[in-house]
Amino acid sequence: MKNFLTIAVSKGRIYKDTLPLLAQAGIEPLDKDPEASRKLILDTNIPDVKLIIIRTSDVPTFVEYGAADVGIAGKDVLMEYDGDGLYEPLDLNIACCKLMVAGFPNKAGNEQKRRLRVATKYVASTQRYYANLGQQVEIIKLYGSMELAPIVGLADVIVDLVDTGNTLKANGLVPLESIAAISSRLIVNKASMKIKHQRVQALIDRLTKAVEQAPRS
Ligand code: AMP
Repeated sequence: MKNFLTIAVSKGRIYKDTLPLLAQAGIEPLDKDPEASRKLILDTNIPDVKLIIIRTSDVPTFVEYGAADVGIAGKDVLMEYDGDGLYEPLDLNIACCKLMVAGFPNKAGNEQKRRLRVATKYVASTQRYYANLGQQVEIIKLYGSMELAPIVGLADVIVDLVDTGNTLKANGLVPLESIAAISSRLIVNKASMKIKHQRVQALIDRLTKAVEQAPRS
């Protein structure tokens, strides 16, 4: 897709919040409901701009390798991604939440002899967080349903995204420590930034304006 400008975005929350910003920047997918359709490449009202729909954790990979020129990914995903072929020029201020340590209310002052067990899919961020605190912990990698881990005794605490806190509350857990504020970011392939500079820069400028004009979340 060499002559196209391709934008990688994931389905779900980020896609829903991205659409109004893209529309404000003059880009609208022709297929209004990619959640229902199984299309992975969406045409837009601008013939040389395409959206590609991929898993959120794959967005940085597609962009770093130039399979997409730009992408939209959560800071949580970018903090886990171990690459250096990306620019991150814009905070889109969407899908805002926090990366947090959570657990049972009485686990804050954990006094057990063994290392704290932490279940998470955010292994790199969790490692960095506890390393900065100088605390040695045992990290258990999970791919979902983290809230279950303390309940069934798999872990003492979890590290997960928290928005309203309702998921924690429904499982008898509470937020304990905040690790990072999370929002979605525009990321750009370094080569595309040079080779397609005008088009990429125009997109960044229009999205910057759209973010400035968006209602505060
Ligand atoms: P909440 O119950 O509103 O605190 O939301 C927590 C659940 O939604 C957890 O399963 C999180 O992994 C997920 N979640 C919250 N915010 C986001 C976000 N911005 N992006 C992706 N997942 C999120």
